[in-house]
Amino acid sequence: MKKIGIIGSGFSGTMTAVQLINKLTKPYEIILINEKETLNKGIAYSPYSEKHLLNVIAGKMSAYPDKPDHFLDWVMQEKAFLGKDKVLLANSFLPRKIYGAYLCAIWEETMKVAKSKNVPINIINDMVVDLDVNDDGVSIKLDNKLNIALDYCIIATGNQIPRNPNIKNQAFFQSPNYFQNPWKIASVQDIKSDLPVLIIGNGLTMVDTVLGLLEHDVQNEIYSISPNGFNILPHRHNGMKYTKLVEEIYEDMSMLEIVKLVNKHIKSVREYGVSAEPIIDSLRPLTQKIWKSFSEKDRDKFMKKLRHLWGVARHRIPLHTHDKMQQLRIERRLHIKSGHIVDIMESNGLIEVHYFDKRTQEGKVVEVSRVINCTGPETDLRNLDQSFLKNCLTKGILMQDKLKLGIRADTETFQILNSQGKPHHNLYTLGANLKGELWESTAVNELRAQAEKLAEFLLND
Ligand SMILES: Cc1cc2nc3c(=O)[nH]c(=O)nc-3n(C[C@H](O)[C@H](O)[C@H](O)COP(=O)(O)OP(=O)(O)OC[C@H]3O[C@@H](n4cnc5c(N)ncnc54)[C@H](O)[C@@H]3O)c2cc1C
Repeated sequence: MKKIGIIGSGFSGTMTAVQLINKLTKPYEIILINEKETLNKGIAYSPYSEKHLLNVIAGKMSAYPDKPDHFLDWVMQEKAFLGKDKVLLANSFLPRKIYGAYLCAIWEETMKVAKSKNVPINIINDMVVDLDVNDDGVSIKLDNKLNIALDYCIIATGNQIPRNPNIKNQAFFQSPNYFQNPWKIASVQDIKSDLPVLIIGNGLTMVDTVLGLLEHDVQNEIYSISPNGFNILPHRHNGMKYTKLVEEIYEDMSMLEIVKLVNKHIKSVREYGVSAEPIIDSLRPLTQKIWKSFSEKDRDKFMKKLRHLWGVARHRIPLHTHDKMQQLRIERRLHIKSGHIVDIMESNGLIEVHYFDKRTQEGKVVEVSRVINCTGPETDLRNLDQSFLKNCLTKGILMQDKLKLGIRADTETFQILNSQGKPHHNLYTLGANLKGELWESTAVNELRAQAEKLAEFLLND
């Protein structure tokens, strides 16, 4: 019996396994490898707090591309939501924990399907530490030293923890007061001093971390330092479906032409007092195509000049969370700074953060009790501490795109390309690893389609 191994069982790995099991007509064994804590949920959907909300409305979070109401219908039959208005729920930002429970429920149902079809499922609660590939198959090594031989392997490793900031005093990263992984509850617990807390970064994880700190009764002031210090925007969607921009986009437009066009449309809707959100949303179905058509030079320019702006326009937060952030800023408990960190020194639990303030154009120092890294998932495999992906890069099993956003792969077949650019017939990837190829390869609406397409390709191949 052929073996399909899936490394990582967050949304991408779990839903690929679900699609495979549902579509299988020949005997295969499915092996799912993921640590226990995040099994079937991944990082995003095993948050430590109920206050960590989905950043997409429930009506758009179905795990299946062809069943748009699947999540909503599941939620409606949950005890806590019985009798609630469907339209209200469809437009709500629900806790990510609920979404984790939804994925686990899908997995349980799929286990029954697997049993009825005699598909053996092997769950391994461990980490993959190395991988080798040859014409006959793929061999993976687990942290517990066990080797497993596979016929096909799908790498669904998703989000890596953030990279450490580029500072002189690298010894600081060993400090118990530094938290490189912001998704662990320890990052917001046991703060013993009254000094402020520093959050590096100013995106959605910064917001989650602030909420996590408040939930743990942290009264300390909070600083956030990021390159631009942009205001995070709330979702203010009025339901308008904007089509005018997309109608004016044509093949092979340069980045500059698209930026000019977007700006023109933003200006025109603002004249009528309408939020520019629907304009950004109208671009979503086209972003992968636009990214693929960009020249290397345009992609590079986008990353240097527009990435942060796009991030702010794209990654918005629920209105009530936005109100909370604004309130904290007015009360001067939350300080959003723009600039970069120059160095961090610690003695006797007092941390001195030296940073360059972009607004005042001068070096400043802030004294804090802890530093939490919320700069977003690292994508450059060379910077990962210990990773089988880094080993694969060294061995030429895979290569990265020029901007080091992900792994090079054929986006039609999901086959990983080796260092010579040749596709492996037995090694696949999806999700965040395809960021360099597709730019937007992160949210559920992209991943659910990838999981289905990958399963179909693998089984038909
Ligand atoms: C905090 C956060 C919130 C988000 N919120 C939303 C949202 O509301 N809506 C939305 O559409 N998208 C959201 N996203 C985007 C999110 O990336 C996707 O929705 C989706 O969860 C990604 O799933 P994944 O399986 O690709 O990656 P992950 O969730 O990162 O899962 C990867 C899994 O692989 C495992 N793994 C990694 N390396 C190994 C190894 N060597 N061996 C074994 N296992 C390994 C990890 O432990 C993890 O469980 C969010 C992302 C984050 C980080």
